[in-house]
Amino acid sequence: MTKNIIICGGGVIGGSTAYHLAKAGAQVTIIEKDGIAAGASGGAAGLLSRPSVTNRTPLYELQKLGFAMHVELSKILPEEAGFNYDFAFSSRAHIATNLEEKQNLEHLIDEYQKSQRKAEWLDSDILQKTTNWIDGEQVLGAAVLPGSASVDAYRYTLALYTATERMGGIVKSGEVTKLIHEDQQIQAVEVGSQRIEADTVLIAMGPWSKMLEGNISQPIPVQPLKGQILKLRPKNPVQMYGFNYDGNYCVAKNPEVIVAGTTEEDAGFDTGITRSARDQILEFALNFSASLENAELIEQTACLRPLSQDGLPLMGEVETIKGLYISTGHGRQGILLSPSSGLAMSELILNGKTNSIDLSAFNPNRFIS
Ligand SMILES: Cc1cc2nc3c(=O)[nH]c(=O)nc-3n(C[C@H](O)[C@H](O)[C@H](O)COP(=O)(O)OP(=O)(O)OC[C@H]3O[C@@H](n4cnc5c(N)ncnc54)[C@H](O)[C@@H]3O)c2cc1C
Repeated sequence: MTKNIIICGGGVIGGSTAYHLAKAGAQVTIIEKDGIAAGASGGAAGLLSRPSVTNRTPLYELQKLGFAMHVELSKILPEEAGFNYDFAFSSRAHIATNLEEKQNLEHLIDEYQKSQRKAEWLDSDILQKTTNWIDGEQVLGAAVLPGSASVDAYRYTLALYTATERMGGIVKSGEVTKLIHEDQQIQAVEVGSQRIEADTVLIAMGPWSKMLEGNISQPIPVQPLKGQILKLRPKNPVQMYGFNYDGNYCVAKNPEVIVAGTTEEDAGFDTGITRSARDQILEFALNFSASLENAELIEQTACLRPLSQDGLPLMGEVETIKGLYISTGHGRQGILLSPSSGLAMSELILNGKTNSIDLSAFNPNRFIS
C-alpha cells in the first residue's frame, strides 16, 4: 500500500529521514515553520567525530554507521543536490595538560592500537610544528586519533532537502499545531486552519517536539539545551587539525576558518548570543592556541540542541497511535547521527522493522509510567 507520509520539522533529522524515504520511492511531505535548517541543524558546528574504540554506550552503532554513511554521502549527495556542503577530513588532537591526563590518553592510544587503528602521542613541540597552530602554554602534548571530518551543517541539511525535492518530495511552509488521530490510527495534521491528511506522521521538531505531547497522551521529554559557537579567521592559514579538551573544541573547517565552542545553557527557547559566552569560548581557545590571539572573530551564533531526559534519542513508533513516529533528542550529535537515524527511521516506517540498526534502546515509549 502506498503511504502518505508527513514529516513535521525541517531540521537534519526530518531531512535525512525524508531523503531515505524518497530514495526508497515513498511520497513524503515535510512541514517546517521557520525555514529549512532554521534551528540547530543550521547553526551546528558540523563536526563529525568518529566514536572512540572505548565507547560502549547504546549510541555506538548509530555513531559508527553515521560516520561511515557521511563518508559515502559526501561522494553522491553534492551531485544529487546540485551543490557542495564542504565535507572535509581533519585530524583531531586530544590534549593533555598534566601527567595524569597524558597517562589516560596513552592508555587510549593502546586501545586504538590493539584494534589495529592508527593513533599516536605528540609532545607539545612536535604538535606545534605539525599543526602550526596548536601551540598554547597549557599544552603538554596530545593523542592524535584517527581522522574525523566536518561539514557545513546548514548546507548539508539543505542538500538533503534539495535532493529529496528532486526525487519528488514536497516541502511546505507552516506550523503543525495539532495531530489528529482516531481509533488509535493517525489521520492528519493540522497546520493553522488547514487539515492535511496522512496515514504516517513523523514528529522531528527538535526541542519543539514536546509541544505535541498533549495531543498523544504520552510524554516526549525533550528540552532545549542552548549552545553558542564562534567562527574565527586565523591570521595565517592553518593545517586541517582540531583539538578537544574537556568537552570543548576548536577545529579547522578549512585552512582559513576555525570553529570554536561551546556552551551548554539552560535558557529555555532563548537564542540570543552573549558576551560572556564569547569570552568563555575565546579563553578556552587561547589556552591551547596562542596563535589565535590575532584571529578575527567572524561570527558568533547560538542555537538549541534537543536534549532528552536520559540523554538518548527517542526513535520509533508511538505505542498507542498507529502510523505516528518520533525521531528527536539527538543532543550534541544530531549532524553526525543524521544519516544512520534517517535510514533506520525510513526502514521502520516502510517495513515495520529496521535492518541497519537496532533501535530498541531508543524506544520513544520508554518514558510511559
Ligand atoms: C552550538 C551547537 C553546536 C552543535 N554542533 C554539532 C556538531 O558539531 N556535530 C553534531 O553532530 N551535532 C552538533 N550539534 C547538534 C545538532 O545541531 C542537533 O542535534 C541537530 O541539529 C538536531 O536536529 P533536529 O532536526 O532534531 O532539530 P532542529 O534542527 O531543531 O529542527 C527542528 C525543526 O522543526 C521546526 N519546527 C518546530 N516546531 C514546529 C512545528 N510546530 N511545525 C513545523 N515545524 C516545526 C523548527 O523550526 C526546526 O527547523 C550542535 C548543536 C548546537 C546547539
